[in-house]
Formats: sequence, structure tokens, C-alpha cells
Amino acid sequence: METILNREQDVLPGTLLGVIEEFIPGANVYEIDGKIFSSVIGIPRLDMIKRVAWVEPRSRVQTPTQGSMVYAFVTSVREEIAMLRVIAQDLRNPYKHGFGGILHISQARSSPGERNLQEIIRLGDLVYAKVLSKSNPYILSLKAPKAGVVLSLCPKCVSYQRLKGGKLVCPRCGFEESRRVSQLYISF
Ligand SMILES: [Zn+2]
Repeated sequence: METILNREQDVLPGTLLGVIEEFIPGANVYEIDGKIFSSVIGIPRLDMIKRVAWVEPRSRVQTPTQGSMVYAFVTSVREEIAMLRVIAQDLRNPYKHGFGGILHISQARSSPGERNLQEIIRLGDLVYAKVLSKSNPYILSLKAPKAGVVLSLCPKCVSYQRLKGGKLVCPRCGFEESRRVSQLYISF
């Protein structure tokens, strides 16, 4: 029979891989009535020597994708460039390991008057940003809808700041400052 084995293409659970007259069922397959089916999403493999059919599970390593929006913590910020830690595309399902992120003032300023990145984001802020590049460290941009700071700690007393009239205000000590705040700002 024409086999789909050893094609570099995913099969789904339930895909017919072959029959037991031809192959011995190996890892990640099951057999019903002499037919061998994949039990996982993965790449079908055939061991030609041992005549074993098995499926190599597709490892689902999540990485930021170009053009997507991600959440990232600001780990350092200077006048023109900031370094970030990209932690998630969806905060309910963060990456196992973070990725590097770089934000340049040219991808953050909304008017030529903004000359200092420190007026837009601050160390420790969680920001929502667009991914411009394809590999780690990722080039990030705030030039996207909803991009900006989504969570910020008060630099004086380390409380979560609240959004009030477009400004970030500390509910504990009253410290307030302006920032590029996202409409997704998280309020507790
Ligand atoms: Zn405070």
C-alpha cells in the first residue's frame, strides 16, 4: 500500500499508518482490527530494519511569532533603547522560558517630542508590544493598537499603580506619573 510513513508531515490522532501484516506497532500508535493508527499529533516514522511503525510527537515549543502581540517585562531602559523579557502571548499560558526583547525609541515614540524612552516605559513595567522580527532576541514595537504598559509598580513603595485619568497613580503613597499606558492596563 502507498504509505504516508516517513513524510515530513504531521499526522493527526486516528490517521491510518499501515497494517500489521507490514509493520509492528511502535510508540504512539494503536492497533484496531490489524490496522495501525497514530495516537498523537506528530511525524510518522518507519523503522525499515525492525519493520516498526511509530510516530514522533511534534514538540510544541512555543515561540513569539513575527507580527503577533506579546507581553514583556522591561529589564533595563536607557534613553534610546530598552531590554525586555518576553514572557507570553497569552498571560494565562506563558512561555516555559522567556525570550529576549529589544525596544528602540523609534518604535516607541508617538511624536518627535518624545526623546527619552524612560518617559514612555520604566524598569519593571509589563508592556504589551508587537513582535517585528523572527528570532531571539525579538525586536519589539509599541506602534500597534493596544500596545503600551499594562502593569506598573510604584517606584516609591512598590504597590501596583492604578490608571486614573490617563495617568498612573499609586493607591498607597499617591505617587503619580504619566506613561504610555495600554487600554489593556490591568486593574485589581
Ligand atoms: Zn507608591
